[in-house]
Amino acid sequence: MSRSQPVVAIYPGSFDPITRGHEDVARRTLRVADRLIVAVAHTATQAKRGLFTVEERVEMIREVFADEPDVEVEAFEGLLVDFARSRGAHFVVRGLRAVSDFEYEFQMAQMNRELWDEIETLFLTPDQHYSFLSASLVREIARLGGDVSRFVSPTVLARLQARVGA
Ligand code: ADP
Repeated sequence: MSRSQPVVAIYPGSFDPITRGHEDVARRTLRVADRLIVAVAHTATQAKRGLFTVEERVEMIREVFADEPDVEVEAFEGLLVDFARSRGAHFVVRGLRAVSDFEYEFQMAQMNRELWDEIETLFLTPDQHYSFLSASLVREIARLGGDVSRFVSPTVLARLQARVGA
């Protein structure tokens, strides 16, 4: 890979739904990358258990980044490194909230490099206001009728309200 090429990063996840924490990590990535592909993982198990379908998640993320021409959103199936290679992306972005994220992330980063030695993983930390935030907590709070308006963008909030009456 030559440095003269644009830096393309991939931010993979389930994004069920995208939160302000994800959004923060994605926008920070654009400080070091020319283009970012937010990649929604499409697996049978997640599709079964998700609150939103993968297509809905993709739509929401596109709405959230409607103002950001350097962000693309796609769903993907199969190995992340294969998808990254097919898009010419040599950087995977992952958010680190706390030490509890570290072990799994470290393992994934090492394995991805074993699978394709041209991939690097970038770890970014979110704004401290989002370090406690996860999509699963947002889903849980919304289901229980709590106010999640500080944790998701207005477009996601509207969809959550429609889905669970949050
Ligand atoms: P979640 O853990 O919220 O269900 P995903 O599985 O979609 O989210 O995670 C995708 C990536 O985003 C992971 O690297 C995860 O650590 C990161 N991430 C999720 N929430 C935040 C947050 N609040 N701040 C920083 N990174 C986050």
